[in-house]
Amino acid sequence: MRYLSTRGGIAPIPFTEAVMMGLATDGGLLLPERLPTVDAATIEQWRGLAYPDLACAVLGLFIDDIPAADLERLVKRSCAGFDHPEVTPLARQGECHILELFHGPTLAFKDVALQLLGNLFEYLLAASGGRMNIVGATSGDTGSAAIYGVRGKERINIFILHPHQRVSPIQERQMTTVLDANVFNIAIKGTFDDGQAIVKRLFNDIPFKEKHQLGAINSINWARIVAQVVYYVYAALRLGDERGTPVDFAVPTGNFGDIFAGFVARRLLGERIGQLILATNENNLLTRFVLAGDYSVSQVRPTSSPSMDIQLASNFERYLYYLNGEDPAATRREMEGFAATGKLSFAGERLTRIQADFASHSADEAATLATIRDFKARHGYLLDPHTAVGVYAGLACRREGVPLVCLATAHPAKFAAAVEAATGQPPVLPPALAQLADKESRCRVLAADPGVIRDFIERHAI
Ligand SMILES: *Cc1c(COP(=O)(O)O)cnc(C)c1O
Repeated sequence: MRYLSTRGGIAPIPFTEAVMMGLATDGGLLLPERLPTVDAATIEQWRGLAYPDLACAVLGLFIDDIPAADLERLVKRSCAGFDHPEVTPLARQGECHILELFHGPTLAFKDVALQLLGNLFEYLLAASGGRMNIVGATSGDTGSAAIYGVRGKERINIFILHPHQRVSPIQERQMTTVLDANVFNIAIKGTFDDGQAIVKRLFNDIPFKEKHQLGAINSINWARIVAQVVYYVYAALRLGDERGTPVDFAVPTGNFGDIFAGFVARRLLGERIGQLILATNENNLLTRFVLAGDYSVSQVRPTSSPSMDIQLASNFERYLYYLNGEDPAATRREMEGFAATGKLSFAGERLTRIQADFASHSADEAATLATIRDFKARHGYLLDPHTAVGVYAGLACRREGVPLVCLATAHPAKFAAAVEAATGQPPVLPPALAQLADKESRCRVLAADPGVIRDFIERHAI
């Protein structure tokens, strides 16, 4: 399987090169040259597999340049960081099935992808004799999942910038209590946007980037998508049957990453995956895109589901490529137009296609909190605010007689303030979070100044 760019500007490359490249060098996103499909007999063989074995089978369709025994080792090591034997278990709650994606070390679904990505980086760097300095800015969640993905790994240092005293205490402690020598937490005296601007400056400084082999952690790495395809297949096989009856999925979405993994999974399994319900919070750009063909950015509005407070969906271009019939020239033209105007419009047959691929619904703040409250009252089960957005949209689009899976992207204790506002009670902290308060922590507080951060990285790079 080879990989190409949505903008057509690179020669096809193998998976391992695509992982190390991250963003395509022509500014596009990497995709497999064709999306794999599987036949009914293979699906029946997969049905009884445990999660790690299923993950090897699914990943093997996308990766042919890592020996199967090595891939198996990497997958099993990645699954071992999860505290549930099923890795992503399903919990039946009333009319829907909650797919719990939060059993990883930082209690959020980004662990599923970043545990694997960290192991892949370490493996590939060992093979090449290379090294990597990962630099990223976080508003909370991605930073800790990335740190846990690479802590203690050979040949990798990681530098994560977060806004000083502007992330939640739990998020801050999740990052700063990791004391491995290759982890550098930097609290900048500024905002998340300042942090992002600094990181962008560093990546645009090509001599600096090359000298230190800078690596990124954002959601555009293809390995992250492919790791997420696995749990769609797992849930569809657990709830579907050999006649191929469909299972619907509701997916809380920000960067279009998780829902795009669902799109790939549906290409793989065909009609065994039914509706993909794209759920948004008040930042409902993607819902307007699906319902009205209107993809136009506006101001970000802060909500109780901050990991979805996004206006520029970084994985959108991958879907656009398929919407354009896999035409890179058309995709490049449209993305360039979007960069200039901040707006794209879709009508006619293209809008029909979009609406065949996705259903969508958005939840405002009142609906999100009401969903947390009602779900707890009816089922005794606590949803985090991101998951609640998905459950609200899922129930609004539910089809009688079709199993509905709602992706649970974070543990409710990570968003205690919203859960308390909804239910009147703070969530009980699981041991992994309760212990954070007593742990030693380490963090440098630095000025929000590109020169200062550059110097710091220069001195501590591997
Ligand atoms: C990142 C994140 C999302 C959104 O995922 P995308 O891949 O950006 O669509 C949803 N919920 C939580 C808790 C997240 O951390």
